[in-house]
Parts: sequence; structure tokens; C-alpha cells
Amino acid sequence: MDVPWPTARTRFAGVIGWPVGHSLSPAMHNAAFRAVGLDWTYLAFPIEEDRVEGAVRGLFHAGCAGLNVTIPHKHAVLSCCDELTPAARAIGAANTLVPLGDGRVRGDNTDAVGFLRALDEAAPLDLAGADVLMIGAGGAARAIAYALTGRGARLLVANRTASRAAALGEPVPFTREAIDDAAAGAAMVVNATSLGMGTDEVPADLPVRALAPGAVAYDIVYRREPTPWLRAAEAQGARTVDGLGMLLHQGAAAFGQWTGVDPPLDAMRVGLLAS
Ligand code: NAP
Repeated sequence: MDVPWPTARTRFAGVIGWPVGHSLSPAMHNAAFRAVGLDWTYLAFPIEEDRVEGAVRGLFHAGCAGLNVTIPHKHAVLSCCDELTPAARAIGAANTLVPLGDGRVRGDNTDAVGFLRALDEAAPLDLAGADVLMIGAGGAARAIAYALTGRGARLLVANRTASRAAALGEPVPFTREAIDDAAAGAAMVVNATSLGMGTDEVPADLPVRALAPGAVAYDIVYRREPTPWLRAAEAQGARTVDGLGMLLHQGAAAFGQWTGVDPPLDAMRVGLLAS
């Protein structure tokens, strides 16, 4: 007979967001708990905006061992944190909440480190003094700007809403010509918008032919297979990095903080791809 599970000793972690039903984090973290033999489970909690603070406090009061935070709550949870890591403070958003054991909660942002680890793994690049063009200036872009400037890159930013671009780097007009010009001189182009989600067309605003030979094309949009932009960029001779790597590594950095155990990256990757 199968042993009933979860038991009274099973610990829980999870993700809050609204909506959250699309999240791949449960598949990734539950695969990780199984791989390292932890009697933990990971759940997705759909939490509306006006309930964030109560939910976070209630979950931790109930013994929650760690939380991820996704759209649209990454900024709102800052007020639930008793301390913030330098990354969360600088980015102005937290995607990982860690109970410190004394009732206090630490907020971290692992999107930045996740972005860099995926780059180092898939297409290592010396960023010091390198020109990087980032398209997009939303929440994920803020974490990426922090990561890239921390490595000494010169950041050019093109965003549909121009005022947001200027807050993150040297603004580039959101026109085909200006984006192509900036891409031609860039060692890496990052798509940090949601352009390319759920379509088989290469989004018209993302550069392809203008990419410099050997440049890195990094698409943070995640899909099981490469996005159309990444496929086109690869055909053009670019090295490519997909969004699944960033998702994996931001999750791995959270897992390590909650459990104190080295994250089982292979199992987490399999969990992600199976979801
Ligand atoms: P967000 O804060 O809502 O920002 C969205 C960005 O996309 C903004 O720059 C927005 O421009 C731009 N945008 C949206 N629709 C556009 C359009 N039709 N044309 C031009 N620009 C458009 O979202 P986010 O949290 O930064 O997430 C952005 C994407 O990154 C999503 O696809 C998300 O799934 C993905 N993501 C991936 C990871 C990962 O681990 N791989 C982590 C976080 C996010 P405006 O400023 O003009 O609105």
C-alpha cells in the first residue's frame, strides 16, 4: 500500500501571484525536493492585490518554509520584509522571501543572479565595458539592469514607454532604425519584454539582421522550445540564451536559501521541461 503523503511532518513552500496558475515553479521545486529527499512540498497561492500582506504574514505564521513572489506582487511584498538583500533593495522588488526563524522575513531578488548564471552557463561573455542593448524596462528589466551594470556593462535601453527606459540606462528610441543601430554595436541584445510570448512570428521590434556576428541574443521569455526570435538570431550567427535558464537559476538560488541544500539543477531542469 502506498504511504499517504503529505504527512503531519511535511513542510511547505510556495509562490504567490495573481494569476498564478501558469507558474512552472511548483514543477521545478517539487522535482528538487524529491531529488534531494526533502519531505517538502511547493504550492501555488493565487493572492489578490489587497490580500498580499495578510497572506504573506499568515503563510509564514503557519510555518511556510519559503515563498516566491511573481507578477504583480514583487514590489508590494517589500513592506512585508524585515530585511532586504542589497539586490532586492536596489531593484525595488523581491521574488524570494526567506523566513529567518525568529519571526522575521528577508526579501531577496534572485532574478538578477539567475539572469547572470544562465548567461555564464550558455554563452559566457566578458561584460566589463561591453555594450548591451536591452529591449524592455519593466520589472524583470530592472533586475537585469542591476545584474548587467554590476558586471560593468554599458547598458542601452529601448522601451515602448520611453520614460521607463531612461531610468535604467542610456535610452534608445523605440524605432526599428534606432534599435537596429544600437544592436549592431552591441555584444549582447536582451529581450526583456513579453514580446514573443505565445506567437510563432518573430516580433517586429526585435532586431535580427542587425545583430553583430557572434553577439549574444538573450530572450527572457520562456518556452519549452527556443522562441522564434532566438531561432532567427541563431540562424544569423548569434549565440543564444533562453529564458528557461534564468527561471531555473532564480529558482535554484531561492531553493538554496530556504533549504540550506545545494540545488539539484538537473532535476529542476527536468521538472521544468516536464511541466
Ligand atoms: P512587466 O513589468 O509587465 O514589463 C513588460 C515589458 O514588456 C515592458 O517593458 C513593456 O513595455 C513591454 N511590452 C509589453 N508589451 C509590449 C508590446 N506589445 N510592445 C512593446 N513592448 C511591450 O513584465 P516583466 O515582469 O518585466 O516580464 C516581462 C517578460 O519577462 C514576461 O514575458 C515574463 O514572463 C518574462 N520573465 C521571465 C523571467 C525568467 O526567469 N525567464 C523572469 C521574469 C520575467 P512598456 O513599459 O511600454 O509597457
